[in-house]
Amino acid sequence: MESFYVTTPIFYINDVPSVGHVYPLTICDGLARLNRLRGKKTFFLTGLDENSVKTIAAAKKAGVESVQEYADEMAEKWVSTWRKLEYSNDDFIRTTQERHKSVVRDFFDKVYKKGDIYKGVYEGLYCEGCEAFVRESDLEDGNCALHLKPPKALKEQNYFFKLSKYQEQILEHIEKNPLFIQPASRRREIINFIKEGLDDTSISRPANGWGIPLPIDEKQVIWVWFDALINYLQPKEFWPADAHVVGKDIARFHCITWIGMLLSAAIELPKSILAHGFFTVNGQKMSKSLGNAIDPNYLAGKYGVDAIKYFVFREIPFGEDGDFSEKELKNRLNTELVANWSNLFYRSTSFGQKLFGKLPGPKAEGGEEKKLVAKIALTKAQVDELVDKNEFHHALEKIMELSSEGNKFFQDKKPWELRENAEDAVFYAVNVAANVSLLMAPFTPSASKTALDSLGVVNPPWGLAGTLFVKPGTPLAPVMLFKKI
Ligand SMILES: [Zn+2]
Repeated sequence: MESFYVTTPIFYINDVPSVGHVYPLTICDGLARLNRLRGKKTFFLTGLDENSVKTIAAAKKAGVESVQEYADEMAEKWVSTWRKLEYSNDDFIRTTQERHKSVVRDFFDKVYKKGDIYKGVYEGLYCEGCEAFVRESDLEDGNCALHLKPPKALKEQNYFFKLSKYQEQILEHIEKNPLFIQPASRRREIINFIKEGLDDTSISRPANGWGIPLPIDEKQVIWVWFDALINYLQPKEFWPADAHVVGKDIARFHCITWIGMLLSAAIELPKSILAHGFFTVNGQKMSKSLGNAIDPNYLAGKYGVDAIKYFVFREIPFGEDGDFSEKELKNRLNTELVANWSNLFYRSTSFGQKLFGKLPGPKAEGGEEKKLVAKIALTKAQVDELVDKNEFHHALEKIMELSSEGNKFFQDKKPWELRENAEDAVFYAVNVAANVSLLMAPFTPSASKTALDSLGVVNPPWGLAGTLFVKPGTPLAPVMLFKKI
């Protein structure tokens, strides 16, 4: 059986989840659901990056004496938010768990035995927000471009990983595999960065009572990035990952540092790294000081989980920057999910139920019917092609087009006036609505399940889409999939 393994970044716990974190979770959830529907043995991993010095500061600020206690409280908030958003992750990893620490120690051991770790003095600029040394060329007016703060000049005795040793191998791998880093713009950027020359990277910091002690020197802890990346190896039987979904700000760690680490440890490389863009919220840059980081729990309560997921896929082309606007979310919900799909589903099933009680058989297959049947098959093929290119927004556009065609077909048949058209109007419109529901299943899982269950189509395989799979005689029980807000 073919398998599919997808990961989100793991997040710092100095803050609660915001709509910014919803983005990668939603993308991975959709990919995982799509691959499960396609019959692949799928694993979807997300979790938390807890061993950061930020955790210590945040615990102190929150007045919680034990850092671990603080971490446990925060983890509960993250887990409950993701549960509310009905993500289908198969595991939730916390880097303070022993199962993670033990994989980190094994990994470190491999790299150390390879001779790729040495002691040295690092002198450079360190951004506390990034928890990483930064290059002078990355600064904007002397500030870290992400954290808008100047980095600190730091001189430390640390342990280093010989990343420079793997420069040519990393570059070669990226150049030989055009789809390894997506989108192409990000790939070019990474290639240019490597060509400027890679420095060895510090992989330990002075011990601070938190984090994973360096196995060879108890006065040091493992640098949080070295530790965090290793979380991806947790589901051993699924490695290598098919896709690491990451924000563009952390693409370098994944495309360069992580690859160098894996080459050193002689572990197979992941198959792809998909970097998504940044988005503004209601037209403004998301920031703590502006207080515009929207709580996903609020959004889920107001608009429903499916509307949020749909919006994420539909509004922002994957890989590009975009805007998360509540107004647009509402607009998409009302015009596309309610007025188009839900309307088609409800009107065709309720009209059919009133007249026939169950799905009637088609009477004739005329030109209009043939056209519609061809459109159903074409849409399935197009959706397959588009999702494989991560063009989810285009895939959803095609599904909505099919739904519009279904509505138009029903409208044109005027079955409420022309009784002789009623069988065909209902049979074909219900089948279009069912196809839309199945094709939408990776993106709006809850509404799709409601729709398909009501037609007695339970856990349909993806391959059913594109056909007239709701058979005559199926009892009709109309349900409203979305409500206008
Ligand atoms: Zn920074």
